[in-house]
Amino acid sequence: MSTSGPEHSHQPATPSQRSDIAAQEYRFSVLLIDDQLVVQEKVRRAVRSETDIDFHFCSKAADALAKAEACQPTVILQDLVMPDTDGLDLVRQYRSSALLANVPVIVLSSTDEPLIKKDAFLAGANDYVVKSYDTIELVARIRYHSRSYINLLQRDAAYAALHESQKQLEASNAELKRLTHTDGLTGIANRRYFDDYMKQEWLRAQRDKTPLSLLLMDVDCFKLYNDTYGHVAGDDVLRRVGAAIAAGGARPADLAARYGGEEFAVILPATDAAGAKELAEKICRAVAGLGIAHTTSKAAYHVTISVGAATAYPVQGGDIVGLIKRVDDCLYSAKQSGRNRVSAAE
Ligand code: GH3
Ligand code: MG
Ligand code: MG
Repeated sequence: MSTSGPEHSHQPATPSQRSDIAAQEYRFSVLLIDDQLVVQEKVRRAVRSETDIDFHFCSKAADALAKAEACQPTVILQDLVMPDTDGLDLVRQYRSSALLANVPVIVLSSTDEPLIKKDAFLAGANDYVVKSYDTIELVARIRYHSRSYINLLQRDAAYAALHESQKQLEASNAELKRLTHTDGLTGIANRRYFDDYMKQEWLRAQRDKTPLSLLLMDVDCFKLYNDTYGHVAGDDVLRRVGAAIAAGGARPADLAARYGGEEFAVILPATDAAGAKELAEKICRAVAGLGIAHTTSKAAYHVTISVGAATAYPVQGGDIVGLIKRVDDCLYSAKQSGRNRVSAAE
């Protein structure tokens, strides 16, 4: 048994300290609030041989709340009548303290009067013991209430830990999802996400009876770029070209993706052929405008792309494969007619 008197000053435990309490090995801890030394002695003797019960004591009503908040007992024994203070006022104070609201309170009273008992329970007491108690009963009640309070703390701590691990799991899942949608080199959408998005937008265009446009682009003479500047510099070009292409699509629904190797694609929902061509020209100029030197290119002295553009009206039939075939043919004709240009399907 360990003891401490009211003269010990402690800082109140914070809520996080209280959940630490839940994690550690619990001890039963009794705080007696009573002005009479003889009561103190009686309780002290009752728990003296109980090695798992700590005993704390406070004789001044004015210090009781601070003392209780500081020592965080697993049960409070509260005297009913103290000089200048109604013990039940203290019980009400414990109940409105965030740190003590659930700490069990046993009222120690000299009377068995039912109305007083009723008041004690209304004030928030959990138990009521008349001071002529025998110590076996008191110790049993201390254990019972302490155990149930500790169970409550442990349950709260388990809920908090569960909630925390659920939050971490959700964050990891979101990150995993983002990673499975992202191309590792360029940071824009990958082919897998392109395929999913294309299917989704095809169905939406069917429902909404809107056009769906697609741009397919390919870096010009990129094999020569790698041969001239090295593969690492080539990777850097793909990053910069990818960023320029992604910056081209202005609407939130536009999706730029790395289609594969040095090929990129942009899906343009609710965009007609004229709009698609306009955006294709803009992106083509933007990539050339990066001014990345490419002295061995057959198209220019800097890095350029060729762009194919095609539009489908899914409500009139056709399929995704057909749209991709048409846009691929356009890209081929842009290459054939000199590169660094847009070729749009009629
Ligand atoms: P064209 O203008 O006709 O498209 O010629 P090209 O040289 O760009 O086309 P080709 O298909 O012959 O070569 C594509 C090159 O792109 C070859 C390949 O090594 C390179 N490439 C593909 N993926 C990557 C990559 O992730 N990083 C780098 N550095 N190069 C890549
Ligand atoms: Mg290619
Ligand atoms: Mg190429």
